[in-house]
Amino acid sequence: MAVLEIRDLHVTVETDEGTTPILNGVNLTIRSGETHAIMGPNGSGKSTLASTIAGHPKYTVTGGTITLDGEDVLEMSVDERARAGLFLAMQYPVEIPGVTVTNFLRTAKTAIDGEAPTIRTWAKDVREGMDKLRMDPKFAQRNVNEGFSGGEKKRHEILQLELLKPQIAILDETDSGLDVDALKIVSEGVNRAKDNTGLGVLLITHYTRILRYIKPEFVHVMVKGKVVEEGGPELAERLENEGYAAYIPEGAPLE
Ligand code: ADP
Ligand code: MG
Ligand code: MG
Repeated sequence: MAVLEIRDLHVTVETDEGTTPILNGVNLTIRSGETHAIMGPNGSGKSTLASTIAGHPKYTVTGGTITLDGEDVLEMSVDERARAGLFLAMQYPVEIPGVTVTNFLRTAKTAIDGEAPTIRTWAKDVREGMDKLRMDPKFAQRNVNEGFSGGEKKRHEILQLELLKPQIAILDETDSGLDVDALKIVSEGVNRAKDNTGLGVLLITHYTRILRYIKPEFVHVMVKGKVVEEGGPELAERLENEGYAAYIPEGAPLE
């Protein structure tokens, strides 16, 4: 049982215009087995929240706390966060030239578990994982994300999720750029991880489409770096019908 607690989180980023506040007091608690959706217009700070939890150096925490089972996450290096059980599927996964999928996954697994997986079970786990995500076995020998299509990148993120078995996963717009078939396959992977390991999920999305396949118990709406409304699945349904216009002041640009 893991609990990720975010309390009154304030985050800034350095831009040409100086120090810019992005998150302005975010509160959120995610427990094992729970699925939370964070929705909101573009530019509201959703990816900033994900990157801050993962420890991206670009983002400065100026106030508040993030803890995992009471341990101070903000004091941990990116590596330590991963070993503690946090996982981020990025909105824009990065290419790693010269590193094959197979080596990348094995290195990550070894770093997280503190020991290398036995070759036999590992090869089988990878093969089965790829099979379930309908990935071509040839994929294992390709360089990470190099020339991958949008759908292939997202499947590779979910393959990592299934193999690394984190406690809490943050999925940042894992639905973007997926056709319906790929969306179903990726969602099934997330649901398997929920069923098999009691994964806690923070699902960041702009659209409600993915919520038909991965069902959240909690929905949070983020606007301008703050959670402005919270509810259950019915809130997502309302957003599906009404969009975000109600949260954006009259005359403000709609992104
Ligand atoms: P969302 O994921 O909700 O679309 P983001 O977290 O990506 O929102 O961005 C929130 C705001 O912070 C935007 O105005 C964006 O331009 C700004 N921002 C985020 N990251 C950076 C960065 N690294 N440098 C400059 N501005 C950033
Ligand atoms: Mg965005
Ligand atoms: Mg984003």
